[in-house]
Amino acid sequence: MLFREIPGNIDIKNELISSVKNNRISHAQLLFGQTGSGQLPLAIAYARYINCENKLEDDSCGNCTSCIKYQAISHPDLHLVFPVIKQHKGVTVSDNFVQEWRKFVIENPYLSVNDWLAKISQETTKNKTGTIYKDEAISIQKKILLKNFEASYKVVLFWMPERMNREAANKILKTIEEPPKNTIFLLVSEKPADILPTIYSRLQKIKIKKFSKHDIEKYFDENVITKEALNELQLITERNLGQLKQLIEGGAEELKLFKHFSSWMRFVYKSDIIEINKWCNNISLMSRQEQVLFVSYSLKIIRDCLLFNISSNKLIAASKNEQEFVKRFAPFVHEENIFLIVSELEKSNRYLKRNANAKILFYSISLKMIKYLKLKRKFVNKD
Ligand SMILES: [Zn+2]
Repeated sequence: MLFREIPGNIDIKNELISSVKNNRISHAQLLFGQTGSGQLPLAIAYARYINCENKLEDDSCGNCTSCIKYQAISHPDLHLVFPVIKQHKGVTVSDNFVQEWRKFVIENPYLSVNDWLAKISQETTKNKTGTIYKDEAISIQKKILLKNFEASYKVVLFWMPERMNREAANKILKTIEEPPKNTIFLLVSEKPADILPTIYSRLQKIKIKKFSKHDIEKYFDENVITKEALNELQLITERNLGQLKQLIEGGAEELKLFKHFSSWMRFVYKSDIIEINKWCNNISLMSRQEQVLFVSYSLKIIRDCLLFNISSNKLIAASKNEQEFVKRFAPFVHEENIFLIVSELEKSNRYLKRNANAKILFYSISLKMIKYLKLKRKFVNKD
């Protein structure tokens, strides 16, 4: 992770970089912020910058030996600590899960601890309590006593120190207070209030703000997601970049939505109750957020149809698939049914947000849509 890959946070980046330039790197720092903000990638970019052999004015070089190892979050002088699931054999330490963690963070450094635990608990156990155990504290103490392999600074990156149990926290306390020379503790937290007060009080704190609307717009390519869809998603996820990345990059989101919508309308048009039933089943398996997003997307296409009808068949901002669809579908959306359809979809989004049963809800909208699509236009404008 490089500073330039992380959107926004300009003041924080400047502050971190100038601490390195002025040689005032505090030995125990806490970067904290809400889930989906930049604290973890910023901490990694910072550690990388500290050890870069060819520092640029505002970022690491990206090419030196240290940078290359940091790119893979796999430098011998970078020690990683994060919550894990209790293991019944041997010691329970982060090292047992380190490959998975690196992959998880490289893919999406903005995700939450629950996403991480869901990932490692899939096969092994249903118990998803992630903890940093005493074994970890012991292991870190041993590691930092070793001579540095190659870096000028040894970095201990502690993700979610609030997950340390009391034994671990008490054990590591002294080390965080007085680490060996050229050793830095970077703690990255979402719930700093849950960190043991005796540790918390020894940390230099850096608050990371939520990403702004502008940061997020700049982060995603307009070819991947339209501005409208992104706006909608920002509202649903409350500007959580981790979730946004997951939703948008998790498989050409628009295309998936388009497929769902076009097949839905096809089944409705044919009044094919069996297919509608299957379709509702599929939709009900999606997460609540995805369902809300799907309804918003449906509203967008319906509005595109209306626009297509009233603006002499001109098509504005739509993908090729959508354009084809809108051309064929637009004649069925008109003044006799547009308000009914739109109000039905808007209502369903409200119900979904209140946790309505998705399957029943989509089934009921489908039946109404069958009726609405059969409504005939009273007169046709021949222009
Ligand atoms: Zn470098």
